[in-house]
Amino acid sequence: MKTTDVQKLYDRYVLPTYSYLPVCLVKGKGAKVWDLAGKEYLDFFPGWAVSGLGHCHPKVVSALKEQSRKILHISNNFLNLTQARLAERISKESFPSRVFFSNSGAEAVEAAIKFARRSGSESGRYEIITMENAFHGRTLAALAATGQKKYLEGFDPIPEGFRKARMNDLDSVVKQITPKTIAILLEPIQGEGGIHVASAEFLKGIREICTGKKMLLILDEVQSGMGRTGKMFAFQHYGIEPDLMTLAKSLGSGVPIGALVVSNKINNVLTAGLHASTFGGNPLVARASLAVFEAIKKEKLLKNAQDMGDYLSVALEKLRHKFSFVREVRGLGLMKGVELAIPGKPIVDECRSGGLLINVTQERVLRIMPPLAVTRKQIEKAMGILEQAFQKI
Ligand SMILES: *Cc1c(COP(=O)(O)O)cnc(C)c1O
Repeated sequence: MKTTDVQKLYDRYVLPTYSYLPVCLVKGKGAKVWDLAGKEYLDFFPGWAVSGLGHCHPKVVSALKEQSRKILHISNNFLNLTQARLAERISKESFPSRVFFSNSGAEAVEAAIKFARRSGSESGRYEIITMENAFHGRTLAALAATGQKKYLEGFDPIPEGFRKARMNDLDSVVKQITPKTIAILLEPIQGEGGIHVASAEFLKGIREICTGKKMLLILDEVQSGMGRTGKMFAFQHYGIEPDLMTLAKSLGSGVPIGALVVSNKINNVLTAGLHASTFGGNPLVARASLAVFEAIKKEKLLKNAQDMGDYLSVALEKLRHKFSFVREVRGLGLMKGVELAIPGKPIVDECRSGGLLINVTQERVLRIMPPLAVTRKQIEKAMGILEQAFQKI
């Protein structure tokens, strides 16, 4: 089969909800992927920030092999050993909590919204404050929380009870608080929004407001979690703890799993039958996710993400000084954004021709999120390709 044959199948049978590239990826290993034509790429945005350990990490692959010989799926009405061990691991790595498992980020956010509303139901509070430029997923409530016009158009009526404030502007948050506010939901680092990092002052301020007004702080770490920023979770840079936290994307480094982590402080609102997911946290995906945690620890990937993140910052800053259209380099650890004064798509396309996969978001922000085990050599090579693309533009 050729790439054009695959494209024909798409044109005929796959709903056109994505603008796809004429590249069919068929194999991956670590930071490398190969397409159907055999071309090799360095992947600095593996699986849209899902394959955090890189493609086909050996520990994840053998965990899947092992588990698939035992049992793939059981109902959540039976005790599931791997799910229990994973919940323990997530809780111990984050804050005293219990965990609900979903299959995706949007579902984890959806669960967070439901749990927040439930906890406010007695006092009649249901409003949730979210940030401009946020991204929380594509289910209706997650979209309402996202609140960006381009995603909402034509989907009315959308669930009510969401109010918008501005990232890193505490006054704008305070202005949105009403007697009905139950929670503030935000990403510690906005991903799709263009890699905007919450300032320490802002996040600590939000924590204080939430504690003072008995509101819940929900952190969406679907993109920033699992070692991406050099700590297991981005909130750990700030010396604060959320009341709820959502995870997905690289939680399974390639298998679909999401999670809502709920602080023990609010667990009393949760009872049997309150929420459910048929697939959520099944033995196969939970086993893979356990392998992700093991790999991050054994291979010291948090340290590598910090070190390589610093190295990448220096390299990108060099490019900023060299090319006047590079406005700003932002991010934490291996979650980097490069804001340009020009559209980023031609640069992403140029990089891909040169053998490097990166992403552009908000039209002008290049998003670079290599696997946590990325090496100096791979970064050097990627920067060479990026520089060439900058030169050609
Ligand atoms: C990707 C993303 C989501 C949605 O996750 P899905 O798995 O696509 O539903 C939610 N929140 C953040 C911060 C994300 O980056």
